[in-house]
Amino acid sequence: MISANDFQRQWSDTKEDVHRAVEMVGSGGWYILGREVSGFESELTSLWGRKHAIGVASGLDALEISLRALGCKPGDKVLTTPVSAFATTMAIVRLGAVPVFVDCDEHGLIDLDQCETLLQARSDIRFFVPVHLYGHSLDLNRLRSIRDRYGVRILEDCAQSILASFGSDKRLTGTVGEMAATSFYPTKNLGALGDGGAILTDDPELAHAARILRDYGQSGKYQHAEIGYNSRLDELQAAILRASQLPRLEGWTATRRQIAGAYTAGISHPEIRNSGAPAGSDSCWHLFPLFVQPEAKPAFLSHLRQKGVMAAEHYPQAILDQPAMKSAPMELASDCATARRLCRSEVSIPIHPYLTREEVSAVIDACNSWEH
Ligand SMILES: *Cc1c(COP(=O)(O)O)cnc(C)c1O
Repeated sequence: MISANDFQRQWSDTKEDVHRAVEMVGSGGWYILGREVSGFESELTSLWGRKHAIGVASGLDALEISLRALGCKPGDKVLTTPVSAFATTMAIVRLGAVPVFVDCDEHGLIDLDQCETLLQARSDIRFFVPVHLYGHSLDLNRLRSIRDRYGVRILEDCAQSILASFGSDKRLTGTVGEMAATSFYPTKNLGALGDGGAILTDDPELAHAARILRDYGQSGKYQHAEIGYNSRLDELQAAILRASQLPRLEGWTATRRQIAGAYTAGISHPEIRNSGAPAGSDSCWHLFPLFVQPEAKPAFLSHLRQKGVMAAEHYPQAILDQPAMKSAPMELASDCATARRLCRSEVSIPIHPYLTREEVSAVIDACNSWEH
C-alpha cells in the first residue's frame, strides 16, 4: 500500500537525531518550559520572520488562545471557512463565539470576494480566521487590504501552510494577520512525535497575553491573572522538532513541491479535476486534492485503494453540517453550496516526502487507469 504518510520511513531517517534529543532532555532533567521550548520558539521566529513565537500543546489551542488574546469574547462573530479541519471552528465555539461561514472558491479556500461583501454589510464582525487550506496560500494582498479596510482582527490558520508563500516577493502565510496559529500534529508538514502547536505574532502585548494564557493564566509564579489553560509545548517535542524535524523542513517541502509537479504533469484523466495551486501561491502541498463528480467519488476512492493507493478525503463533510454544530451557535452568510459540493468531490492522493519515484508514478497510473 502507498500510504498517506509513512512514519516508518521517517523514523529510519530521523531516529538518530530524535534519540539525541530525548537523551538531551532526559539527562538535562528539565521537562516543561525550558531551554528547548525557548530555543525552538526563537528558531521558529527566524524561519517565519515574525517577532514572537509561543509554543503550545496543539494547533487547536494555538487558535483558541490567540483568539482570546485578540479579545474575542462569548457572542462575538468570527468570519471563517466551512472547509477545514474541525478544530478551526471548534476553537471559536469553545470560546462561546459564533462562527460566521462564508462559502469557498473552486480551490476549496474561503472566497475573499464574499468575505469582503459581507464585511462591507456587517460591521458587527470583528474577527476573521482564514485558513490556508491544503498548503495553498490565500491571496495575501487581498487579505492585507481586507485587514486595513475593515479593521477586522485576523488570525491566520497556518496549520497546513508552513513555508507556503504568496507573490513574487515570496511573502509567507501567517505574516498578514495580527496573529497566526500552526500545528505540529504528526501528519503536518512540520510534525512532532505527538501533539504540539505554536502562535506567531509581531505584537509584544499579544505575545505576552498568549504566554500567560498557555500556563494557567499565571502572570508570575502562583499569580493567576486569568483563567488560562494548561497548554504548553513539551520540552521533549520541542527538542525533537529542533534536532530532527526543523532542519529537514526545507528539504521535505522541496520534495512535496516536486511530487506536486509530477502529479500535475502526469494526471490527465478527463473526469479528474486537479485544481492546482491558486494564482500567486507557492504552495507547500500539505495535501494534494483532486475533485471528481460527487456521484463518482466512492468508485474513485475504491479504485485507488484497489490499486494500492491509500487515498483520503479532506474533508468529507462541511463543518456546518457536522452533528456537533447542531447544538452550536453559527451563522451562514450564504448557502455554502460550493463548500458542500467540494466536500462531496474531494479525494486526496498521497503526498509526503518519503514517497519514492516509483510510488509517485504508481499513483499517477492509478488515477489515469480509472475507468469512468
Ligand atoms: C490540524 C489542523 C488544526 C488543528 O491542529 P491540532 O494540532 O490537531 O489541534 C487546525 N486547523 C487546521 C487547518 C488543521 O489542519
